[in-house]
Amino acid sequence: MEIYELSVSEIIKKLKARELTTTEVVNAYFKRIEEVEPKVDAFLTLTKEDALKRAEELQKKLDNNEKLGTLFGVPIAIKDAICTNGVRTTSGSKMLENFVSPYDATVIEYLKKEDAIIVGKTNLDEFAMGSSTEHSAFKTTKNPYNLTRTPGGSSGGSAAAVASYMVPCALGSDTGGSVRQPASLCGVVGLKPTYGLVSRYGLIAYASSFDQIGAFTRNVEDLTLVMNTIIGTDEKDSTSIEREKEDYTKFLVNDVKNIKIGVPKEFYGEGLKPEIKESVLKAAEKFKEMGATVEECSLNIADYCLATYYIVACAEASSNLARFDGIRYGYRSPNATNLKDLYKKTRREGFGEEVKRRIFLGTAVLSSGYSNKYYSKAQEARNAIKAQFAECFKKYDFILTPTSPCEAFKFGEKTDDPLEMYLADIYTVPINTAGVPAISIPCGYTESGLPIGMQLIGNYFSEGKMIQTAYSYEQNTNWNKKPEFKED
Ligand code: GLN
Repeated sequence: MEIYELSVSEIIKKLKARELTTTEVVNAYFKRIEEVEPKVDAFLTLTKEDALKRAEELQKKLDNNEKLGTLFGVPIAIKDAICTNGVRTTSGSKMLENFVSPYDATVIEYLKKEDAIIVGKTNLDEFAMGSSTEHSAFKTTKNPYNLTRTPGGSSGGSAAAVASYMVPCALGSDTGGSVRQPASLCGVVGLKPTYGLVSRYGLIAYASSFDQIGAFTRNVEDLTLVMNTIIGTDEKDSTSIEREKEDYTKFLVNDVKNIKIGVPKEFYGEGLKPEIKESVLKAAEKFKEMGATVEECSLNIADYCLATYYIVACAEASSNLARFDGIRYGYRSPNATNLKDLYKKTRREGFGEEVKRRIFLGTAVLSSGYSNKYYSKAQEARNAIKAQFAECFKKYDFILTPTSPCEAFKFGEKTDDPLEMYLADIYTVPINTAGVPAISIPCGYTESGLPIGMQLIGNYFSEGKMIQTAYSYEQNTNWNKKPEFKED
């Protein structure tokens, strides 16, 4: 077995047993990156020198028998929307092309404290707006299972890096599906935690009441180790929730006997690819076989969840992105003649088309003539969505749906029609709208060999049991075909 094929837990074990050194691990991953990255284009920045330096420091820690962190010596990739001290952080935008963050996001602080090794920053749709990573201002990331297809988005770089074994784990952010959808399209595990469980301090904001940092791994056990590291109350984030830290490794138990799963019929209707429907329903059968209670249920939000999400998220985005004005930081147009012109030209030249579309939409729904009609209505709908979820969770521990209505799509297939692209998020946006957690795990392949993912949605703070349920499924199935970097 190659070093780069090891899981997070195996790396830690082998390092502690002194079967490997931290430098060997880092070098093995960079060798893999050199081989595969030219095909996949997952990274915007690689931090090899820093990573090797860190590896040396960590090896000394081990040699001196010091206390070791929960992610000791584990290489990790970070979505480039998360600030890393002294390292360029672009959020996929020309606006921040040369922005070097002067501080670490809280999650990065935690990762460093727990001895993880950051190997680089991954590609994303500009300001995390998109579902294919095609809206990045810098490059398009390819799906490792088929290089002519997108990895999903917006955290497509992180998902593709994990799927192609360039790192064993990565962080992403999920505002409306940006961890789960690319995880599903790239055949890896992706978790979006309960809103407030992971600090957003240092995450470049898209829509603050939806944004949440999550993790990608190739298996559920590895996910527990990353989650254990990144959760925690943070006084720097006013929406961070005060809560005792849970140890998710306790939930690595193969048992779903007391778990009740609802399968909402509305999520299996029009627009869902038959192959995907079949795979997810087979997974429901599997859960039954394994001893869980599985029943059809109703969650009648599909008609209005996309509109609700895109209205509120764009409203928040238009406000969050007002800070990019050419004055404080980031891109400044060299072509301006006066102050007003500077604002205009900076924003015209610095933002891409999709970001502008959302700023327009957000500004429109907040403007005085329309805010009652659209923004307030959408907030009401948001409450109705929350209430529907709450009703479901009275009866069920988890709700099982497909993660995405389609498999990895071809480049350009959805870029001409924004609505088509938005429809790719139909199953993931309601989760952020309610603020509940959800995980995407692999549950099959299409006939052409593309990964299929399913989504387990749980009530607030149900991450532990969710991990147990996902882990049990994983133990009873075998969806871990390696990507072959096919081109067709
Ligand atoms: N694809 C969704 C959007 O474009 C979600 C993005 C995200 O989660 N950051 O808004």
